[in-house]
Amino acid sequence: MHQDGRRLTPQRQRVLELFERRGSGCHLSAEDVHQELVALEMKVSLATVYRSLRLLADMGFLQELELSEGGRRFELALDDHRDHHHVVCIRCGRTEEFESQSVLAAGAEAAESIGFKLIESSLNVRAICPSCQD
Ligand SMILES: [Zn+2]
Ligand SMILES: [Zn+2]
Repeated sequence: MHQDGRRLTPQRQRVLELFERRGSGCHLSAEDVHQELVALEMKVSLATVYRSLRLLADMGFLQELELSEGGRRFELALDDHRDHHHVVCIRCGRTEEFESQSVLAAGAEAAESIGFKLIESSLNVRAICPSCQD
């Protein structure tokens, strides 16, 4: 925490706590987080929330999911919760997790076959949830 922009300010701490209270498996957009903070009577703009989220992701506290139609969502970055994948509803953004050894194996094999050193393999599946199918 050397640069000013990278300190865990009270506000960023609040954002992080919001994720920690909900635990793993919770995927929130900047809008979700903003609504929660406003409900807690915090005066904060959506732009500020977004900046805090990006920063917490850069600092390694949160993991950012880039989902084409669903926008971006954030979740807690936990070591024991790394190897999971996401099914995302492209209409409402509902995000569910799944685990798959074959996805992990395919990633490892693909990287290895061309001499790359594997960091992680993750799969985002775009889909339409039951309530959005009608
Ligand atoms: Zn997840
Ligand atoms: Zn949906």
